[in-house]
Amino acid sequence: MPLGLYVHVPFCETKCGYCDFYSVPLGDRATTPVVDATLRELADRTKAIPEPIRTIFVGGGTPTLLPPDDLQRLLSALGSVARQHAVEEFTVEANPATVDEPKARQLVDSGVTRVSMGAQSFFPVELAALERLHSPQDIPPSVETLRRCGVRQINLDLIFGIPGQSLDSWRQSLVRAIDLAPDHVACYGLTYEPATRLTAQLHHGHVTPCDEDLEADMFHATVDVLGAAGYRQYEISNFARTGCECRHNLLYWRNQPYIGVGPSAAGCVNDRRYKNVPDIAAYVRRMDERGRAEAESEALTAEMIALEMVMMQMRLCEGLSVTDFRQRMGVDPRHKYAAALGRLTAKGWVTATCHRIALTRAGMLVANRVIAEMVTGERTVERSLKVL
Ligand code: SF4
Repeated sequence: MPLGLYVHVPFCETKCGYCDFYSVPLGDRATTPVVDATLRELADRTKAIPEPIRTIFVGGGTPTLLPPDDLQRLLSALGSVARQHAVEEFTVEANPATVDEPKARQLVDSGVTRVSMGAQSFFPVELAALERLHSPQDIPPSVETLRRCGVRQINLDLIFGIPGQSLDSWRQSLVRAIDLAPDHVACYGLTYEPATRLTAQLHHGHVTPCDEDLEADMFHATVDVLGAAGYRQYEISNFARTGCECRHNLLYWRNQPYIGVGPSAAGCVNDRRYKNVPDIAAYVRRMDERGRAEAESEALTAEMIALEMVMMQMRLCEGLSVTDFRQRMGVDPRHKYAAALGRLTAKGWVTATCHRIALTRAGMLVANRVIAEMVTGERTVERSLKVL
């Protein structure tokens, strides 16, 4: 089965208030040691893999913040992997105003085919609530630069459910994103992750979270507005023009294997899952001393694999493949989860055919609850859970 490759670059200009990805402000930190260590891990993990790598995704953090020399060394190594394995999709994450023309050309010359840009909103007050550094005016020229330099596919990330955001402003952000003609749009509901500044502000009563019904309306507007503009929803939060779905993320959602390199990166190959230490100094030290920097590693049991399949595949509009599940687990998921599926289909949240078990649009609004009920077999009591 083809593999995905994820590379984590743990630097950002500043830390956004809602973000719980592992990244630190770049400041005047030296980036060379962690890039060196990441390249060593890349060489080690790719030297003896049984299957070809199909996709590369460089995320973080803000990979395009790396100084030119370190970025070039990383991209050159990944470009070699891309050529050697005939990689189909090579994505780099970027933020508006972090990609100028020389950097965009550097990406394209290294084989990058797709840039995923964190636009998030087209309203200054909403970007300020998220503690984003860029302004709405930065987004169009960044997209234009990437296109002019030959980036084949562009994704724009947007966030709804921001404190103070209205249904009208959310619709306007969607329309302004569509005006830029991206190939792919990802729309995530804001989540209050533990240990973030935004969550601390919530606990201190300094922010008022978006009303649940308003957030549901925003989700429905997302599906309708993007659908009318030709962006097909293929996962709860992801929309694409035909043929422009993110192959790397599809690989996660379809429970295919992937390698992760860099601080905090995770991987799962041959049903063994690992996660690297989420600390730059510890990562570099462990790579120097042991040649590996895994903080945790476990062999997945059959029950864990079943859980992963439900959790990931149910996010897709195509849903959980009955055939795939039966082949891997030796049991029909419609039988394994029969009691929960009976309740969930009666509520109109799930449809089940002989090929697929999938969320309905109403089910997507309570996706976490549906998935929890399937895998625990117990009725969940929460009124609703966030759209992710
Ligand atoms: S730019 Fe992205 S990765 Fe960096 S802190 Fe902000 S949300 Fe997190």
